[in-house]
Amino acid sequence: MTRATWIRLGLFLLALGVTSLLWSRTLRFDEVTQTSWTELLAAVDAGRVAEVLLENDRVEAVLVGSNADGRRRVMVASRLPNLDERGLLERLLAKDVKVTGRIERQSAFWAAVVSSIFPIVMLVLLFRATGGLLGGGKGGARPMSFGKSQAKIYDRSSENKASFSDVAGVDEAKAELLEVVNFLKAPAKYRALGARIPKGVLLVGAPGTGKTLLARAVAGEAAVPFFSMSGSEFVEMFVGVGASRVRDLFTQARERAPCIVFIDELDAVGKTRAGGTGIFAANEEREQTLNQLLVEMDGFDPGVGIVIMAATNRPEVLDKALLRAGRFDRQVLVDRPDVKGREAILGVHLAKLTKVKGVDLRVLAQRTSGMVGADLANVVNEAALACARRSGEVVEQQDFDEALDRIQLGLRKAGLVMREEERRRVAWHEAGHALVAMSVSHADPVHRVTIIPRSVGALGATLQLPLEDRYLMTQPQLEDALVVLMGGRAAEALVFESVSTGAQNDLERASEIARQMVCRFGMSALGPQVFGRAQGGLFLGGAAGLEERNFSDETARRIDGEVARVLETAAGRAKDVLTQRRGALDAIAARLLEVETLERPELEALANRPPRA
Ligand code: ADP
Ligand code: MG
Ligand code: ZN
Repeated sequence: MTRATWIRLGLFLLALGVTSLLWSRTLRFDEVTQTSWTELLAAVDAGRVAEVLLENDRVEAVLVGSNADGRRRVMVASRLPNLDERGLLERLLAKDVKVTGRIERQSAFWAAVVSSIFPIVMLVLLFRATGGLLGGGKGGARPMSFGKSQAKIYDRSSENKASFSDVAGVDEAKAELLEVVNFLKAPAKYRALGARIPKGVLLVGAPGTGKTLLARAVAGEAAVPFFSMSGSEFVEMFVGVGASRVRDLFTQARERAPCIVFIDELDAVGKTRAGGTGIFAANEEREQTLNQLLVEMDGFDPGVGIVIMAATNRPEVLDKALLRAGRFDRQVLVDRPDVKGREAILGVHLAKLTKVKGVDLRVLAQRTSGMVGADLANVVNEAALACARRSGEVVEQQDFDEALDRIQLGLRKAGLVMREEERRRVAWHEAGHALVAMSVSHADPVHRVTIIPRSVGALGATLQLPLEDRYLMTQPQLEDALVVLMGGRAAEALVFESVSTGAQNDLERASEIARQMVCRFGMSALGPQVFGRAQGGLFLGGAAGLEERNFSDETARRIDGEVARVLETAAGRAKDVLTQRRGALDAIAARLLEVETLERPELEALANRPPRA
């Protein structure tokens, strides 16, 4: 469920609560006990009755002191035929009971009717009001349009115009979509040729890669209306609402063709029908919605110039019927951007900042490996915020460094005062990582080193930058990565003659890499073999640690031995490097204690300085 749905549900429950509160106020339910005359008279004689109401056919006796909590306790008995009124009356008055009589019950009837109808009317009204909200989104202001399509329309004149120049780093996807743009610009030309343009284009890609943006850009480029709706908006609490929305959406679209109908998060509607768990009520609703969507897609002639676009990050869960020819048969992959793509995306977002100076996009792109467009937009925004925080005039590289540190390492830990002894240890630890990284031949270059503590628990950090995105790691690269990880601990051991808890994270990562080298990559004396099989359950697939053991105890022992050997070799190499370059190590650590953060040029200068005699 989307957040909007939750909010609507919350509002509805609130309204329900308020109504039932009103109801219980209006109809104060008395605690009524049906009794016999004998018991009622006994209660009167015992003085427990405060008030008696004589009615046509029954007697109500209100018990003493029962009104305290707003609920009266009432004994009710049927009147006896031909009762001697006077005898009873005397008996009641003798006990100081207040006696009332009532013969006409008409008014009481109406009071009861009003007091029970009123809350129902309230309930219906409130239901109507929130029903409009339940109907979804901005259209909720029209309470009667319950169930109608809330599709937003972006057209050429709209403020929300996007174009291909707003989308960067996904050139293949753009090239594929260009054909759709051309078709929408001049559908007649294609019709004359008898060419069949795909009805449905499915954008597939990880969250934040720019699928929604691309769809809007297609509409912007072709200058056609853009009807967009999110899959989760179709799936409502009430069966049939989603289907009627689909119908309405397509009716609107047909009137405005050529145009684009965009269904975001298609997987919310289009989940495969077979094998679904039947326990959720939403399922039937989703199926009806999906069926309606299929009917609508089949039901129009592609020549009219409606192109249906949809986006999903889970194409594998989609119902096969959706992917059939004539429906979403064209799939466009919106991939994670590579280093060039990230540079371009950063450029697009940087252009939106008014004051920027001296930012190296290439380095930023290298530092943001694995990030998608939405993350990069966030980085640029964080940098602007960082600039504002330091009351800067112009956004500079330092703001980007701060933003990235913040995103990748966590907040600076304010007010954390480390003892000088601890700072020295952290400085040598990080200097150890950095110097080893600069000394081995297959490690990624060091970008910067810092001993500013961060809230995630790191007391310092050494940032290495891969020069480009990497899809493969060679054995020497992995081995050198291990040596770099061992560098911090080795430096501590060398300088302080003891190790500390600060290396825990390094060791965890190193152990994981070493074990994978032995068990997964065949990079050890155990030879080219994989040990252990991933247990691929439906929901467990790929989960780390869930491995089926398919080797003997003897092999397990050899694996452990190999892992230990790989790690010890790395630790030994780290120690050797640092022992040889002790002068450089001390120089970097000392400088770190002074300035806390060192960038690559200064680091290299310090590392290459000839040792003092
Ligand atoms: P998706 O729909 O794939 O999850 P969105 O299109 O909603 O991603 O992207 C969210 C935001 O991230 C966009 O509004 C845009 O600011 C930024 N963004 C994502 N991808 C790109 C890109 N390729 N180029 C420029 N900006 C992008
Ligand atoms: Mg999206
Ligand atoms: Zn470390």
